[in-house]
Amino acid sequence: MEPANKKFDVLVIGGGPGGYVAAIRCAQLGLATACIEGWLNEAGKPALGGTCLNVGCIPSKALLDSSHHFAFIKHEAAEHGINAPGATMDVNRLIARKSKIVQALTLGVAGLLRKNKVEWLQGFGKLLADRQVEVTPVTPESGAAYTVSATHIIIATGSVPVRIPPAPVDNELIVDSTGALAFTEVPRRLGIVGAGVIGLELGSVWNRLGAKVVVLEALTEFLPSADCQIAAEAEKILRKQGLDIKLGSKVTGTASNNREVTVNFDSPEGKQQLTLDKLIVAVGRRPNTARLGTDAGLKLDERGFVDVDDECRTNLPGVFAIGDVVRGPMLAHKAMEEGVAVAERIAGKHGHMNYTNIPWVIYTWPEIAWAGRTEQELKSAGTEYRSGAFPFAASGRAKAMGESGGMVKILSDSGTDRILGVHILGPNASELIAEAVLAMEFEGSAEDIALTIHAHPTLSEAMHEAALGVDQRSLHF
Ligand code: NAD
Repeated sequence: MEPANKKFDVLVIGGGPGGYVAAIRCAQLGLATACIEGWLNEAGKPALGGTCLNVGCIPSKALLDSSHHFAFIKHEAAEHGINAPGATMDVNRLIARKSKIVQALTLGVAGLLRKNKVEWLQGFGKLLADRQVEVTPVTPESGAAYTVSATHIIIATGSVPVRIPPAPVDNELIVDSTGALAFTEVPRRLGIVGAGVIGLELGSVWNRLGAKVVVLEALTEFLPSADCQIAAEAEKILRKQGLDIKLGSKVTGTASNNREVTVNFDSPEGKQQLTLDKLIVAVGRRPNTARLGTDAGLKLDERGFVDVDDECRTNLPGVFAIGDVVRGPMLAHKAMEEGVAVAERIAGKHGHMNYTNIPWVIYTWPEIAWAGRTEQELKSAGTEYRSGAFPFAASGRAKAMGESGGMVKILSDSGTDRILGVHILGPNASELIAEAVLAMEFEGSAEDIALTIHAHPTLSEAMHEAALGVDQRSLHF
């Protein structure tokens, strides 16, 4: 049957991590589900996976991994006795490898939807009254717009990069995070506006490949949402790697000819100017509601996010919204978890979502990862806490790997010892943080981690030692 006029139990608008996961869970729970997604990939073909798989988390990690290997060969291999002089980077192959990974994973999501009998409606969804959705196909050959309806709708339309008037993206010299994943050569002089997650990750990629990277950050504090001790240490290491991070620097204007771009910015030293080969604008993302339309009367909040309650319900009966398009951190794993929770609620079950234990990861090297409260947050809230830290310089495994920068830091309640926050700067911090999140989800104490046997020699011993440190009894530091 043609999808036109079809009625589903659930219609999910958006096929990114929030949307496709919600659709799969709905289908697993026996609900007739369709997922509306109109993304076109580099080859102009419809693709699932949204920003994360196509132009976000996954392709950036592919480039981060490749560039990490390159930097190792260039700067560290000799120390290991590996002689690889004259190693060069073939940027076209680097980008082709990334594209292959993206293609495999997005096709994988299409396979998952098929396997779970989720219908993929290839187009953009506009929300109409009474839980009807108009689907406009993405390719002209797919025919005219049609309308479908559902008992429940889940909006998962994600986010788009914020644009700033002084640095308009032209996709040639001035690019956003999408353009920065597709450079055909290493820019000699690269500027990045914004020392946030995206700026630091993409800055790391191109810095490792040989670009001279300048990061212009409007705030005077580096990574203010991270624990201040970790942020200070990370800043030192990243500067040493070559990132020229200019804090308190606000871009006021740009001028491009067809070869280079000149950037003007206000800095603590006064008005300054830089001439660059490329400029990446990474100043945040905003909710993507443009194509949803206004016909249904969906309420947005004052910042443009779809307004939802604690259970992701919008002001419209039967209509939910999840992921980047609603309040909370713009993280794929938060979106996925909300998607599952909403699917469960629609099926009449309990949807579980704990917003206090969402891990954060910044994939620089060393990686930065944390969960829970920072030391500065605890201080300003007047919470009595104890702190234990363990540097990777004292970890046998980290030393053997040649990775001695950074630390694990655990903050626990002075009275109950319950873990309030865990902060890691170090190798594989993205993986190590999972132990902390699990302990916190179980409402565990620092002592619980201290009493848990960690394999030797592993990086995870740093977590064990930091937990011992909370009680002033680290063994190796
Ligand atoms: P961000 O909010 O992390 O950082 C943007 C930075 O730009 C801020 O520090 C801000 O002060 C600065 N800025 C804003 N305007 C400026 C100006 N005019 N001049 C100079 N600096 C300016 O945003 P992002 O890095 O673009 O990332 C967007 C979203 O995507 C974030 O919410 C992030 O959580 C998510 N994301 C997460 C990951 C991850 O989890 N590893 C990776 C990529 C993106």
